[in-house]
Amino acid sequence: MNELDTPTFRLAVAQFDRAAETMNLDPNLRERLKLPQRSLVVSLPVRMDDGHIEVFTGYRVQHDSSRGPSKGGIRYHPDVNLGEVAALAMWMTWKCALADLPYGGAKGGVKVSPKRLSRAELQRLTRRYAAEIFPLIGPEKDVPAPDVGTDAQVMAWIMDTYSQQVGYAVPGVVTGKPLSIGGSLGREEATGRGVVDVTLEALRHLKIDVRNAKVAIQGFGNVGSHTALIMQECGARVIAVSDVTGGIYNPSGLPIPDLVRRNKTAGGPLRDTKMGDAITNEELLQLECTVLVPAALSEQITKRNAAHLRCRVLAEGANGPTTLEADQILEDKGVFILPDILTNSGGVIVSYFEWVQDVQRFFWKAKDIQERLHEIQSSAFHRTLEFARSKKTSMRMAALMSGIDKVAQAHLQRGLYP
Ligand code: NAD
Repeated sequence: MNELDTPTFRLAVAQFDRAAETMNLDPNLRERLKLPQRSLVVSLPVRMDDGHIEVFTGYRVQHDSSRGPSKGGIRYHPDVNLGEVAALAMWMTWKCALADLPYGGAKGGVKVSPKRLSRAELQRLTRRYAAEIFPLIGPEKDVPAPDVGTDAQVMAWIMDTYSQQVGYAVPGVVTGKPLSIGGSLGREEATGRGVVDVTLEALRHLKIDVRNAKVAIQGFGNVGSHTALIMQECGARVIAVSDVTGGIYNPSGLPIPDLVRRNKTAGGPLRDTKMGDAITNEELLQLECTVLVPAALSEQITKRNAAHLRCRVLAEGANGPTTLEADQILEDKGVFILPDILTNSGGVIVSYFEWVQDVQRFFWKAKDIQERLHEIQSSAFHRTLEFARSKKTSMRMAALMSGIDKVAQAHLQRGLYP
């Protein structure tokens, strides 16, 4: 399909092909799993505050639903396209299977710069998008969540739009909602907490004391900022963080709580805070550090810069931050790679907890959520490590193969319809 043929989709398929080849995956399944199960493209006419109408393009792609409802975030970003959404949906399938969640993978997106819209415009856009993808979503079918450029408020508007259509409140149609309408404790910081959980397991495995660890983080949104806060709480030194405009660096450690507070209130570029030396995003990636956490967009680490990375551990908070060529360069350099589908799964794991709580109308304590998240992620880390060792392969291939195998088993056992 030509519309899918974009760099991010090619990366997802190349990773899949490599894993499928190694595990000798059934060729018919291989053909099917390379493509999404369903893709919907929608046009969204939205009345702007000055009265004129602008038409935006939105997408919802379901990659696979053989193991349960599909699950995946919604991205608002000007570069969103069908190929990117389809790649992210495919990664969600492997991620859910790897964590043993009863879900398939999906993703959605709208091609828009959300910061350029007023709150009222953003609400109208979101409600129209929710109405257009209404036939596809539902607690038993496909459950969206926040991703780049969307948050709990956007999820609340989607929940309300869906509930208005069916005539009663359906909290389980989205996750990452505010607590007042069935959100879960611990969901906002879940991805960052999971990144830290997996990174701490890796540091223990490598016999590195977290108190000696220097951490650099690209991206200071939901994933990046919570990773920074929790890493620091665990005793690591966060020496650099960045946003789309660039970053700040202080080898003695940055005042992360102050930066987070400022992010939530005043906002604006991190560099304007003057809380560290100004650096570019490219310089951040090449800093000497123990742990590098890409937590922004995909394809940031490529064959151009991979050889210059100076981290011991690469903990992928973002989805698809490393290209296949860069992967090989880093493996050869001996960087310990914590692949995205393992490392950033905290978000979908706590989303799963939120959905279970919504469906049961019974809510858990924060302590239960943190403990169960830790249990799932640390066991996935150790299973992946063991698998990588036994098959003499990388952590990425081990994670992909484990996820793909579970999905393949589900397809083979259900059989081909009709
Ligand atoms: P976000 O919108 O909250 O934050 C994104 C951050 O990246 C911002 O600080 C932004 O300024 C920065 N950024 C954007 N473009 C950049 C660029 N070109 N260079 C450097 N920085 C840039 O998004 P998020 O929810 O934190 O998601 C970040 C990544 O984590 C994405 O790849 C997303 O798919 C992945 N992820 C998110 C979740 C989640 O629960 N939110 C879960 C799993 C994976």
